[in-house]
Amino acid sequence: MIIQCSKLLVLLLITQFSFAAFKTTVLTRNKEMDLVKKEVVFKDIDNLGKLEDKSFKIVRAKSEKPIILSELNDDLEKMRAASVYFHLKKAKKYFLDVVKSKYVSELGQITIRLGITNQFNSIGHFAHDNLAPEYNNALSIPPGEGRARFGIDPWQHEIWFRPAKEVNLPSEGLKNDFEQTAALFSEFRTQSRFANFQRFVADLFLLSGDELVDSGLSILGSTAIIEASFIAMKHIYGLLQGKSYLLDTSFIPEIVYHEFAHIALSDKLTLSHSSPVNEGMADFFAASIANSSTLADKVKDYAKRVREKDAFREQTYQSGFESNAYANIDFVLGVLWQVRELDEQKSHSYIYNIRNNLTSSSNIRGDLVKSILKECRRSCKSPLSGRIKLLNAYHEMGL
Ligand SMILES: [Zn+2]
Repeated sequence: MIIQCSKLLVLLLITQFSFAAFKTTVLTRNKEMDLVKKEVVFKDIDNLGKLEDKSFKIVRAKSEKPIILSELNDDLEKMRAASVYFHLKKAKKYFLDVVKSKYVSELGQITIRLGITNQFNSIGHFAHDNLAPEYNNALSIPPGEGRARFGIDPWQHEIWFRPAKEVNLPSEGLKNDFEQTAALFSEFRTQSRFANFQRFVADLFLLSGDELVDSGLSILGSTAIIEASFIAMKHIYGLLQGKSYLLDTSFIPEIVYHEFAHIALSDKLTLSHSSPVNEGMADFFAASIANSSTLADKVKDYAKRVREKDAFREQTYQSGFESNAYANIDFVLGVLWQVRELDEQKSHSYIYNIRNNLTSSSNIRGDLVKSILKECRRSCKSPLSGRIKLLNAYHEMGL
């Protein structure tokens, strides 16, 4: 009996230990796309809230030690770290359960650096602290071998989130007017002569190249995602936003999804090179993981507008879209979205599979479209009519 009792005790202890979990608050979106606080329980971490499991380790800047949530006094910082972890888990689950990615199932632990300003150096890992610190942005880092002789350890995949920094826009900037900011995005989407959102904003506010980088507006991505990001800032920073720009990327679910998607695609689309096709693919998955009808409507609306023949004719494909300087990520996302229009359920693995025939230097008109049509043979319910529908849509888009 005594033996049995102690067995039970051991069992109880083991059960308690292995089910250690941590309860905390994260920032996430509700159905209306508004950012809301939500109580969650993290089951894969210990009861001190040490943010490390087999998939992710969340650290501050250049540290290798995981953040321990119970040790953080600042509620905002606590929520930041917890939210990033929460949305990364969601993104990974999507690639495992919905996309069924073998590559993602074999990925090792990814280190997430919060509040890091160093530039990335492919040999030294971190560029020197004093070398042009970066703000208002996020990026995915490919693994590196390090340099033992210089004490630089090898590293695996990483995602870096820059700190948010207020950047004043020139006098004609957006003054406390969120409607105006929202109008900017819709204006851009309905105009045809501006191929690139960043260029559009730079021209509008007469920003220099450096100011554009500082503003965080230089991030590549479709306007649907950038818009979602800016609207999110209003919820976090309230009235502060509008007088100037800042972008707290770690609090924006779609940016977290976008960066994880880059890594999920990185067996074929390398992280060291950014291209319109790369960015459009990452945004397709960011929008799919977010699974928001508001976001989907924006993408759909853009794609439909492009296909309408007369009024917006000049918005169809232009060869300039192939280069980064004029990259129109909305256009690439619109191309990919046609597959979703065809069959939403299948579109997740369908779009993931097309990366097999792509590289980071693939172009839109040739490679991307060819790859989409080729995959239809495998993934479309009826390959022939599927391809006819896609061909028609792409024809209307000027491809
Ligand atoms: Zn990107």
